[in-house]
Amino acid sequence: MKLGPLLATGRSCGGRQVAIGLGIITLVWFMLPPGSLYDCSFSTVVQDRTGRVLRLCLSKDTQVRLPPLQEVLPEKYLAAVLHYEDRRFQVHPGVDPLAILGATWANVRAGRRVRGGSTLTMQVIRMARRKPRTYLNKLIEGLQAVRFELHHSKEEILRHYATHVPMGGNIVGVEAASWRYLGRPFVDLSWAEAALFAVLPNNPSLINLRQGRSLLRVKRDKLLKVMFDRKVFDAATYALACLEPLPPQARPLPFTAPHFTELVLSRSSPQQYLTTTLDLEVQMVLEHLARPHGESLRRQGITNLAAIVVDSASGKVRGYLGSLDYFSHQDQGQVDGVLARRSTGSLLKPFLVAKVFDRGPFTVNSRIQDVPTFYGTFAPQNASKTYQGFARISEVLQKSLNVPAVRLLHTYGVENFLEFLHQTGFRGLFRSAEQYGLTLILGGAEASLFELTRAYLSFNHGGRRKDLVLLERVEQQQEVPVQLFSAGSAHLVTEILMEVPRPGIYQDQPHLSGARSFAWKTGTSYGQKDAWAIGYDGQWTIGVWCGNFDGTGNADLSGVTSAGPLLLHLFQTLSKGENRTWPQAPDGELRSISCCMRSGYPTGPHCPETVPVFVPREQQVLRNCPYHQRIQVETGGRYRLCSKCWEGRMREYVTRFVPPASVAAVYRDHGIPVDEFPAHLPGCPSDSASELFELVYPVPGLTISPPRNFDGVREKVVFSAHHQRKTASLFWFLDGHFITETQDDHAIAIEVSAGKHSLTVQDEQGGTRIAPFNLQIDD
Ligand SMILES: [Zn+2]
Ligand SMILES: [Zn+2]
Repeated sequence: MKLGPLLATGRSCGGRQVAIGLGIITLVWFMLPPGSLYDCSFSTVVQDRTGRVLRLCLSKDTQVRLPPLQEVLPEKYLAAVLHYEDRRFQVHPGVDPLAILGATWANVRAGRRVRGGSTLTMQVIRMARRKPRTYLNKLIEGLQAVRFELHHSKEEILRHYATHVPMGGNIVGVEAASWRYLGRPFVDLSWAEAALFAVLPNNPSLINLRQGRSLLRVKRDKLLKVMFDRKVFDAATYALACLEPLPPQARPLPFTAPHFTELVLSRSSPQQYLTTTLDLEVQMVLEHLARPHGESLRRQGITNLAAIVVDSASGKVRGYLGSLDYFSHQDQGQVDGVLARRSTGSLLKPFLVAKVFDRGPFTVNSRIQDVPTFYGTFAPQNASKTYQGFARISEVLQKSLNVPAVRLLHTYGVENFLEFLHQTGFRGLFRSAEQYGLTLILGGAEASLFELTRAYLSFNHGGRRKDLVLLERVEQQQEVPVQLFSAGSAHLVTEILMEVPRPGIYQDQPHLSGARSFAWKTGTSYGQKDAWAIGYDGQWTIGVWCGNFDGTGNADLSGVTSAGPLLLHLFQTLSKGENRTWPQAPDGELRSISCCMRSGYPTGPHCPETVPVFVPREQQVLRNCPYHQRIQVETGGRYRLCSKCWEGRMREYVTRFVPPASVAAVYRDHGIPVDEFPAHLPGCPSDSASELFELVYPVPGLTISPPRNFDGVREKVVFSAHHQRKTASLFWFLDGHFITETQDDHAIAIEVSAGKHSLTVQDEQGGTRIAPFNLQIDD
């Protein structure tokens, strides 16, 4: 800039001093850095992990306004826009006297305004000032443009232009226009597209891709001709460019993984670029597999599904499907099924097993009673409605047995387990342990797919809590390590879950499931309202939920058959390479102990056969096998003896496996032979010393008329007894048939047919109470 002439000619107001003063002020004004030109908000760009655009949000003033994503503007666009708007841009100082002269001459000749003569820099100033086009404003824009050029490089000015140029409607800047009209980022343009983007801002409200399309094409082709004439490209390129049709009116803006981007936006501070953890390829696989699966569910009357795919090592969310169709009003598609809290079905069982492994005395092989069980009026049932007597803990998970799971929870304590769930990060558990009761383990509590998948991630992290991560470049927050259960327990449970049967055809043909090992668990909520499947291996942790958002149950809904197949397909499709090293037993976290072969508990003094079993290193409670007992019997006789009755008799010791009466009863029902436990010698004085207990209800000879509830349904009869010893077990028989065993709370609620009956209750010592009663039904 040469300021000398400007100072020398400034004497119109008379005084030389005035001129010098004005000159200095002007000089200072030119030298001061300008304030920020544009005070506007930008659209937030939500990107996948590699920067691919998932979603463009409106700016605060409801524009789609974006700076170009690439550092360098495409060459073809630069050529087109400079040939169209400002040929001498690279050499002029902000104003172009030649252009002004040319424009004035053209306007005088035409008798109206046909050309402006503004430089790109002046347009950048005008777009910021938004003042009417008058000669005074033009003068101010010219001065400011010169000043702007002093402080900005040519590249910066071009970038300002490309960022703020109006492109029709609420589209601002070439990047936003590229997404709107071409459906892709502003790179790799054709000459025709470059020319279109140069002419589009000329009068965007009148001539755009919606109206005045033919005029727009004429303008584009005219610019192409100018560039051809100026030898920007050859004749063949020119001919091809002119043949290229205009793009369609407008495309929908990117809106991939809508529920996920909403979640990220709701949890992030406002910023221009949100680089999320989502992987567009994984997302495409997820959507591609979910669609046909959703259609087959729909034929069964199940209208929705949700799924989440997580990188096991980092906890980064790579795929996220909140519903089958975000835009479906009928199926409530805007509900995010990943975040919705639903009944957990059996999905909490593996966590309970992990906790009881840590506490002991349970091992993988420990037998848990799978027998008719009552806790007051609560009588859990297996899905099969049958009992198997004893069930190994591994079977409790693999067959998803309810009765032994409830018994385990009763042993572990509802309050303890609820506290663990809170620690794990389940936020929807707002009721008290008393309110949940033992149904907590059968789906009595609600959790989201997000929370459950996050919880399962801890099995891959040595039992430590691991958060799900949504943003790729997030400040490394110091996560406070929370050890939910031991690394040893995590490994043992994982080994059990790897043996959970695959659904349908995959069970018999393991090669179809990729022969790839992964651990998984399914769940079906009460009333068949929710079907769950969550699986994990060293690479992926995947959760799937199926059901109806309005909570309608469906007889065809089950975790194995509704959610399982999609989970398997996802593992098959997403998994790369071999998985042979997974899972690895954690160093020093397990120790081998000797266990009774028959009961699975640590070997007791009388267990005949033993087997080594791994337990967590720090397993706390040790209790030996309670079922192998050494007793004294009369030699050659049928009776058991005790110190009160053995005098004068030949006796010997024998070892017997004595299962609880309830298990023996189930075995007898199934025709499985049970060791006969010898009866005590009749007439032994200790027999009458059986501890005191009382049958509270019914008293012998009672006539019972069960009341009806509000729905007119006859209520069950509740029988109860009281034992002086707190740890006593009582065995209940109705008309000679074993019903159940009770501990702690000796009450059972059962349905009884009309007529005469006999209730018998026995304690472990053989003490017996009998109450005949009559049941009357009044209609
Ligand atoms: Zn034993
Ligand atoms: Zn005796």
